[in-house]
Amino acid sequence: MIDQNIVQRWIRFCAEDLHEAQPLLTQLDAAIGDADHGANMTRGFEGAAAHLASLESGLDLGQWLIEAGYALKNKTGGAPGPLWSVAFGGMGKALGTVQSVSVLEFANAFEQGLTAMIDLGAAQAGEKTMVDAIAPAIAAMRAAALAQQDLPAIMAATRAAAELGARNTTPMLARKGRASYLGERSIGHQDPGATSAAFIFVALERAVAPL
Ligand code: ADP
Ligand code: MG
Repeated sequence: MIDQNIVQRWIRFCAEDLHEAQPLLTQLDAAIGDADHGANMTRGFEGAAAHLASLESGLDLGQWLIEAGYALKNKTGGAPGPLWSVAFGGMGKALGTVQSVSVLEFANAFEQGLTAMIDLGAAQAGEKTMVDAIAPAIAAMRAAALAQQDLPAIMAATRAAAELGARNTTPMLARKGRASYLGERSIGHQDPGATSAAFIFVALERAVAPL
């Protein structure tokens, strides 16, 4: 089951893992963007983690993610701010007023969040964006949940699919965001947003590990 403790740990671990990945994300965005992606993601998730830590406990499961979405919108610079904000908000709305959900229900809620992100950003699969890491990760989560794997195994498969999705952006031509201005010159570089998305699934795997 996924409950509020896991969700709170997840956001805190996102802040930690993105902070550690900041030099890599900066370097990737320097190649095909403007070198601010590491700073944007770190600031956003550190802000979200601090916001959740400031709230009273006892919120519904969905409300934690909606609150994380609000903070991400305020704190994250660049394209990913509004995109991750609506993704977490959409996930939170789909989870609603319960205290815990099965991992399959969580995967379905995450899919709702991804739909909200795609509605806003209009990036389809294969356009060299964070969607190329998130979509295969959610598909892997659902498949592993349906195969009745245990929670750590499900999240390990999910994280591996996100990492593979991020690596698979390297040969793609960027069609969305700043990297698209480079046209053919965007080919041969791994997308920064897909890379940071994979760290968000690293954090989720850590968040479900037994304490
Ligand atoms: P900015 O591009 O505004 O400088 P960042 O550098 O923080 O913002 O983020 C760049 C990342 O945002 C890209 O690597 C890409 O994954 C993602 N991105 C940009 N536009 C879109 C979009 N329309 N949909 C999904 N992701 C996008
Ligand atoms: Mg940038």
